[in-house]
Amino acid sequence: MKRFIAHAAAVVLIVGGGQAKAGRYVLAEADAGRRVFAQNPPPTPAQPALAAPPKDPHPTFTVGTATAQRGQKAYGALKVPAGSDAGYDIPVVVVHGARPGPVLAVASGAHGSEYASIIAVEMLIDTVRPDDVSGTLILLPIINVPSFEHITPHVNPTDNKSMNRFYPGAPSGTQTDRASYVITREVVDQCDHLIDLHGGDLDENLRPYSYWTVTGNQKQDEISRAMVLAFGLDHIIVSADRPRDPNASRFLENTASTRGKPSFTAEAGRSGPVDIEDAARLSAGVRNVMAHLRMGGSVAAPVRSAIWVEKIVSINAERDGMFHPTVDRDAHVAKGARIGVVTDYVNRRLEDIVAPEAGIVMFIRALPSLRKGDTIVNIGIVK
Ligand SMILES: [Zn+2]
Repeated sequence: MKRFIAHAAAVVLIVGGGQAKAGRYVLAEADAGRRVFAQNPPPTPAQPALAAPPKDPHPTFTVGTATAQRGQKAYGALKVPAGSDAGYDIPVVVVHGARPGPVLAVASGAHGSEYASIIAVEMLIDTVRPDDVSGTLILLPIINVPSFEHITPHVNPTDNKSMNRFYPGAPSGTQTDRASYVITREVVDQCDHLIDLHGGDLDENLRPYSYWTVTGNQKQDEISRAMVLAFGLDHIIVSADRPRDPNASRFLENTASTRGKPSFTAEAGRSGPVDIEDAARLSAGVRNVMAHLRMGGSVAAPVRSAIWVEKIVSINAERDGMFHPTVDRDAHVAKGARIGVVTDYVNRRLEDIVAPEAGIVMFIRALPSLRKGDTIVNIGIVK
């Protein structure tokens, strides 16, 4: 993986053609010429001038080392500079559509072992053609490269920080702070909308869902709500308690939302292996949002009967031990229902884990390893 990253950083590949517009104007001029020739001698006064084409606000688009001309796809990297610890490159692809339009950023791999979401963005890198796009797609498949390389769940192993908690970042902090700062400047500041993809980390047996953040700005919230419904996952967690201060936004999606950019987070995938259906669901969801934003493609029917999860109840481990689940992800549990058992390392029962409220198992611990403080289960409460 290191070699791939180094290669991606060093070489900016550009594919696709961006001459469609220029070609049309050339044809128009040729037509005018023929008309003039046919009406020999030419009439006076001279033919009216052709209307000037509308000015393109972004003839090129640059993110990090990737610069794409209109109608092209460019590969490059966001350079996280060295500081109190090492620097590294975050891979990025810019799909600069043949026609102007919104700028949509799609990020994954803040947690580098949430593989379904990473593979979903890899699929988009391959399949989205600039000729089909009105607007610009910024794709960040693996934010947390150290986690990906070392198969470390939840955190960046360089500084032991979650890479979805330290936005908007700081140029003088540890690697996670500096990476977050670069992403805020290069990606969030340049986009109109952002989708942050996650997907059931190694220890999470997760049912797919989106998060919809209520910012309190009604117009913005209506736009982001429509984006979430267009995306297509029918379980939606309502986050009404997310940060509202752009200077303490913590999460990537909130970094965009607190800057006035309607955005959301979605999760699918679980426990390590890439379920290609989960990856395809996330990738198709991004396509649906692109169509909804009129960036190209056909609009799919939005979710009609969404399940709005108003509250999440988490149970965290009170001691080290071994966890044995008795329900699967997506189980609908009654208050007091047993959802698993904690034993010690010689299989003596320490406690039953029971649902404190009736709800839906949004994710349940996928592995026996259990340390004090680990999340055992998240139960979604539907009001
Ligand atoms: Zn995650």
